[in-house]
Amino acid sequence: MIQRLFLLSLFVITAQAELRVRTDFEGGNAEVVKIDQATKTLRIMPALHEGRGWPCWWSLKLEGLTVGEAFTLEVQAQNKPYRDKTVLAASWCQPKCAWISVDGETWQPSAPGTLSADKVMSYTIPAGAAQISLAWGPPFVPADADKLLTDIAAKLPEAKRFELAKTRGGRPVQGIRIGNENAAHQVWVGSRQHAWEAGGSQVGRGFIQWYASDAARALRANTCLHFIPIMDVDNAAIGAGGKDAVPRDHNRDWAAEPIYPEVAAAQRMIRDIHTKHGLDVFIDLHNPAPKDPVFFFGPFAFERMTGVQQRNYQRWIDIAAASIVEPLKVDPKYHFANYVKTEEERGRMSSGWVRANTGAATISVTLETCWNSPLMSVEGYGKIGAGLGRALMTYLQENPRRE
Ligand SMILES: [Zn+2]
Repeated sequence: MIQRLFLLSLFVITAQAELRVRTDFEGGNAEVVKIDQATKTLRIMPALHEGRGWPCWWSLKLEGLTVGEAFTLEVQAQNKPYRDKTVLAASWCQPKCAWISVDGETWQPSAPGTLSADKVMSYTIPAGAAQISLAWGPPFVPADADKLLTDIAAKLPEAKRFELAKTRGGRPVQGIRIGNENAAHQVWVGSRQHAWEAGGSQVGRGFIQWYASDAARALRANTCLHFIPIMDVDNAAIGAGGKDAVPRDHNRDWAAEPIYPEVAAAQRMIRDIHTKHGLDVFIDLHNPAPKDPVFFFGPFAFERMTGVQQRNYQRWIDIAAASIVEPLKVDPKYHFANYVKTEEERGRMSSGWVRANTGAATISVTLETCWNSPLMSVEGYGKIGAGLGRALMTYLQENPRRE
């Protein structure tokens, strides 16, 4: 009898130990290349969403694991072109460490992966549970944005949630306004014009949590902040990359006639804020290339700037370098997006559009937070965001509009 029970339980264990991949949740993305049940090896590539940008983001749930046993996750580049004949380089989908969650809430980096000669990254991961979540980086999906704004609004009775727009897919793009509309200083912070750059939203979360804390009380008293946690909600929801979408992505859509309702709505609001009150600071949050540090893209014309404009941009980067110091220091010099070749295209980037439609005292910058490091956890990104908040507070302690 005992023997039969033992055999039966063996059978049950074997039957449960079939690896299965799920992506049927917000931000889910993986195309299974192969599963080897015997060696517990799963090979994936980011699934291609036709016309919806770079296939680099991946996020999946793996079921049927045996607790305590290791398995192998292999990640290769999507081999079909994402636009015309261009296939995305593998490095964009191969972070040093894969990100792991047992509870779907807290995320840890795996041990660093190893890259084979044929550009397949392999991560060896001990199974901490029968089902675990695996992702390119700590995810931030529309449900996280909703929860974040709910928490902030509950903490600050003066905060006012708003719907920036409904996307082309009918999803709400949510924002929050903190502070009196007529406040002395006006600030706009937004993230995720590129959906794969979940780290941008993680920095945004750290920023807004700091902004809602007691440390920011003085800043809140004389500032009106508009904050958007996810701009490209449609692609973030389906796990598409967004960057280089057809015909253009969100951060190339700041034209006279935007194709994305949320970009058009942001333009209207920013114009309105600037006309009525003057916009002091615009910050767009992104993740850069695999080998990049933490840095700001500054204005192309920075070297030729004079007067109040030159002073403010210089002062911002100096203050930011002193304020954003952990887990990595921000580069104390601006970078410039010189890979964007034409004036016309530069004008369609949000930072350029804001510069062209605001005043000499306004600064408009892009924070690019590196992602390819085990330091870039939810907490790590959060510290960058808190540093950004401290930089903003210091910056606005002197009136940027003074001559
Ligand atoms: Zn970006």
